Amino acid sequence: MLDPLSLAVGAGLIAIGWAGGRFGLRRTRSARKLPARCGCGHDLALHDRAAGTCHAENSRKGIHGLREWVPCNCRRYTGPTPLEDVFSSPILPPES
Ligand SMILES: [Zn+2]
Ligand SMILES: [Zn+2]
Repeated sequence: MLDPLSLAVGAGLIAIGWAGGRFGLRRTRSARKLPARCGCGHDLALHDRAAGTCHAENSRKGIHGLREWVPCNCRRYTGPTPLEDVFSSPILPPES
């Protein structure tokens, strides 16, 4: 026969394990930092703050087999925005 005390201890252990696993998982998730990378593969710093266009250049093979640099055709940064960036730079209306 199972006595109520061992049942309670078992339930308590399950609860502790569940909570530990849950909070442990949450901690590792929040600790992982998202790289501020745009969909074009370039860093947030390479994008224009106002226009959102990318200033980086991509290398490609030209017609004569020579490497040539072409400006990235990204029009808007789509990656994650760091929190400190959101608060430090207020969005200004475009200059006319
Ligand atoms: Zn981009
Ligand atoms: Zn780019």
